[in-house]
Amino acid sequence: MARRANDAPEKAHAFDYVDRNAKAVALLNDNIFYFGELGMQEFETAKLMTGLLEDGGFKVERGIAGFPTGFCATFGSGAPVVAIHTEYDSNPDNSQRPGVVEPESIVEGAPGHCEGHNVNGAVLIAGALAAKSAMAQFGLKGTLKVFGAPAEEQLVSRPYFVRDGWFDDVDVAMTPHIGSEFGVGYGLIQSALISAVFTFHGETAHAGVAPWKGRDALDAVILMDVGMAEYREHMMPTMQCQRVITNGGNQPNVIPKTAAVWWYFRASSAEGAMAVFERAKKIAEGAALMTNTTFDVDLQSAVWPVRGNQTLAELVQAEYERVGAPEWTRQEDDLARALQDKAKAKAEGLSRGVMKMTGPATQKSAANDAGDVSWKVPMVKIYFPANIPNISFHHWAAGVALATSIAHKGAVAGAKVLAASVIECFRNPQVVDDAKASFAKELEGTNYFSMLPPDQKPPVDLNRAMMDKFRPQMREHYLEERPKFT
Ligand SMILES: [Zn+2]
Repeated sequence: MARRANDAPEKAHAFDYVDRNAKAVALLNDNIFYFGELGMQEFETAKLMTGLLEDGGFKVERGIAGFPTGFCATFGSGAPVVAIHTEYDSNPDNSQRPGVVEPESIVEGAPGHCEGHNVNGAVLIAGALAAKSAMAQFGLKGTLKVFGAPAEEQLVSRPYFVRDGWFDDVDVAMTPHIGSEFGVGYGLIQSALISAVFTFHGETAHAGVAPWKGRDALDAVILMDVGMAEYREHMMPTMQCQRVITNGGNQPNVIPKTAAVWWYFRASSAEGAMAVFERAKKIAEGAALMTNTTFDVDLQSAVWPVRGNQTLAELVQAEYERVGAPEWTRQEDDLARALQDKAKAKAEGLSRGVMKMTGPATQKSAANDAGDVSWKVPMVKIYFPANIPNISFHHWAAGVALATSIAHKGAVAGAKVLAASVIECFRNPQVVDDAKASFAKELEGTNYFSMLPPDQKPPVDLNRAMMDKFRPQMREHYLEERPKFT
């Protein structure tokens, strides 16, 4: 990979900072991996991340927008205001021992990182500290804001941050996310999603002795499921829905008076997701009518599709080429091939080089709660190579590389690109104006509005019971050594 000449001393300074702190980057990455905290319960993770930002000279606000594990850290003053943000939550059922090429839990049944949000966290902090170091050293004007966004896996926090005004004074935003290569795009990148829990209410009765006295809430959940299954046939191809039954009653001889089903409604646009949601409410009404039950809906979150701004994508592409993709050792490549083989994926090893920018991007059915930010201000999603190609997330295999040298090298490379992209906005504020101008054209008159009701509160108890159950066992695997950036 031919690297671009580095004509910016501020960027050279940031790259030196990241290289000098490569051990801290790896330790931060691994600490978060072993915390393995689910969304809204990222207490150890947020404490470690905010502590590092504070030690590094940032002013930290914790608990923003009603999120106990969310934060906003600020350095500098005045324009332009550049925001960087990412998530650091894990997933249920995915405890996986790193470096082991077969399913092997660290703690059986426990949550674990299987999408590399631990690496996202390390990149965010290392990129922020490196950019800040260059800002201080070279007297760069502007404000850097670092947002910690809880519960991405449940698509929760950033729509609330935007609704509550945390991005009102932001000029441009960037979000790093793990991938298997350096790749950036613009246009519509991901889909919209509405997350809602439908709870049905009936009446208990002895199921064997007097079932005619009961009104079965579980029946309503099942009939809603049947209705949704029929509806799926008539959805647009750009729409999807998935669900889990979170409460199906307690024991077979008591007719459940309460039952609940948690739905994700996906579509290529916010309007589409709302249309699926409206239809689902009608189907729930039908299910309630048939079972003589009632129901309520708790809208946990609602996100717009992630979009990428072209000006910022071009800026990031230039930084990818400046930094260059990591060079992998034979052992790292062998691990990748063995895992690909085991997971029945194409065994082509690790990726090399930098992808060409894609634009307009092909929209994916996945969603990310950064979506709302990307309609509020020009935003770019920065993918960096810290995972193994052809392995899909939320699978045990996706956890294998996340606390190995593959993730460590990828985090170093990702942090350099993030820092350099931030620095470019401060060195060359024209690019910020250009991004705003191209963003205005990209929106083509679409008026962003928050899909969250104004009085909707964040679901702070989300994942608490599961995390409380597993944390004592998981704590035994926490690393003793904490990262120190110098
Ligand atoms: Zn993710």
